[in-house]
Amino acid sequence: MGQLFHSVLLIEEKCRGCTRCIKNCPTEAIRVRAGKARINAERCTDCGECIRICDNHAKTAITDSLSRLKEFEHTIALPAPALYSQFGREVDRRRVLAALMDMGFDDVFEVAYGADIATFLTTEYLKKQGAKAPMISAACPAVVRLIQVRFPALIDYLIPVDSPMACSGKLAKEMKAAELRIPKENIGAFFITPCPAKVTWVREANKLGSFPVDGAISISDVYGEIVKRLPEISPSHPELKASPVGVGWGRSGGERIAAGISKSLVVDGIHNVIDVLEQLEMGKLQDIEFVEAQACTGGCVGGALTVINPFIGRMNLEALVDKSETRPKLRDELTEDLNLEERLGEFTIKPDIVAVPAFRLDQDVSRAITKAEMIEKVVSELPGLDCGSCGSPNCRALAEDIVQGLAVDTDCILKLREEIEILAEQLLEMAKKSPPALKEDSKEDSAFSKPGE
Ligand code: SF4
Ligand code: SF4
Repeated sequence: MGQLFHSVLLIEEKCRGCTRCIKNCPTEAIRVRAGKARINAERCTDCGECIRICDNHAKTAITDSLSRLKEFEHTIALPAPALYSQFGREVDRRRVLAALMDMGFDDVFEVAYGADIATFLTTEYLKKQGAKAPMISAACPAVVRLIQVRFPALIDYLIPVDSPMACSGKLAKEMKAAELRIPKENIGAFFITPCPAKVTWVREANKLGSFPVDGAISISDVYGEIVKRLPEISPSHPELKASPVGVGWGRSGGERIAAGISKSLVVDGIHNVIDVLEQLEMGKLQDIEFVEAQACTGGCVGGALTVINPFIGRMNLEALVDKSETRPKLRDELTEDLNLEERLGEFTIKPDIVAVPAFRLDQDVSRAITKAEMIEKVVSELPGLDCGSCGSPNCRALAEDIVQGLAVDTDCILKLREEIEILAEQLLEMAKKSPPALKEDSKEDSAFSKPGE
């Protein structure tokens, strides 16, 4: 298997080794070694928490740039619903779309419409799949990756329908290729993304086969250009296809409202998501049918690649949902024009979601058990302060690093102090000693008589 691409990376020169990020990483993927943060690629979910938390701006996300547009004969921007939330309560969606076209895209296709499609696919899937519950939305790639890495037992509970991003890319390319009579491969579809996890998803999916989205450009990279154009631009883009509930997918709770499932649970913020997934893993919450889980606080409006405060973004998006025109004939359009009922298999999530055993202690089960026991012993000998000064996020993580040969117990500063104290006492004892040649006579020396005795 090739090296996993990660959009989140460290800018080493900026890292001061402060250890702030190691405590906030939900998968304990970061260690500080030799004064710099290091990310364990297998464990990282690209959630973006470390980008948010680092005051030194030492973490960043790799995204695509607009220069990639020239690789294609025709280009389509796929703006995430969260993009609209960045420009106030009164923004006209058509102006935002027109601004994107003015920046160089030949076309735009709202991902909010892809969300309408994903809603349809989700409800159809839940109707058909029977009693297995609770089912978890797979729309947030950071949550999907978290489940792969930390909660593999829950993989079977993920709803295997394409994300709004993938649905939009697929349809946008299909329609344009038919209209322009050009191969789909000549059309470049670029997601305007609120988060690094989606950049990773796009890159990885493209690596493993053809994916209907060719790249991901961050909201923060297009924000300034859109702001500049909004006052003057003519809202030329003809038709807004997405429904208000499709637009509402950009904030947490939007998916639940769209799907209209009453026994559902909405959770946002990666650490809250972990709490809920732990409960699901323990077999709790069985009376829930549907779980909407998003890694970012507030949902996609809180993504690490957005610009404005997530709570203000949420307020803006809600105002936009309220004033968006309803689409009374949407279901007919999806079933009759797009024939989605017959095409469910085409919108199954790809690549397959498989477990990533990043927390496995050893491939050999008996060695793994031995290591688990050793970890418990080491933990019991550590001070339990979880201070992070050792460069591991907490004492248990340090114990694991010690057992795996990645750290030593004196990386703990209190352990180091104990060792120094012992050494200091030994030195003191040694300092009191003199070689026999310099010492006063003692009984042991009586075998040797002094001269003249
Ligand atoms: S928060 Fe992490 S990446 Fe940022 S300076 Fe501190 S150790 Fe380095
Ligand atoms: S992106 Fe998320 S999972 Fe990856 S290192 Fe940063 S905080 Fe940890």
